[in-house]
Amino acid sequence: MSVIDLVSRAWADGTWEDDAACRGGDVELFFSIEEADQAEALEFCEACPVRDRCLETAVLNQEMYGIWGGMLEGDRRRIIRDLRRRQREARKAAAARTDAA
Ligand code: SF4
Repeated sequence: MSVIDLVSRAWADGTWEDDAACRGGDVELFFSIEEADQAEALEFCEACPVRDRCLETAVLNQEMYGIWGGMLEGDRRRIIRDLRRRQREARKAAAARTDAA
C-alpha cells in the first residue's frame, strides 16, 4: 500500500482530518516533487483549521514524505532534529544532576 493510499484511508476514516482543508482534494499534490503542485498544496495548509494537529501528527510519526501541517519534508526534519537535540540535552542534564547527588 502506498503512502498516498494510507493518507486517503486516514481521510476516509476521519478524526481531526474531518476538518482538514485538503479533505477530498487531490492527495497527490501533497506528495508531488513539482514546485507548482507543492505551492498549491501549501495554499490548502495556509487556510487549514487543523494545521497544528496535522504537523504534530507528522512530527510524532516521523512522516518522511509529503507536505503535512504546511511544511515540506526538510522543514519537518529540522524540527525532528531539534527535538532530538533537546531530548539529548535534557538526558545529559538529568544524568549530571544524578551524578552530582
Ligand atoms: S495542514 Fe495541510 S496537509 Fe495538514 S490537514 Fe491541513 S491542508 Fe491537509
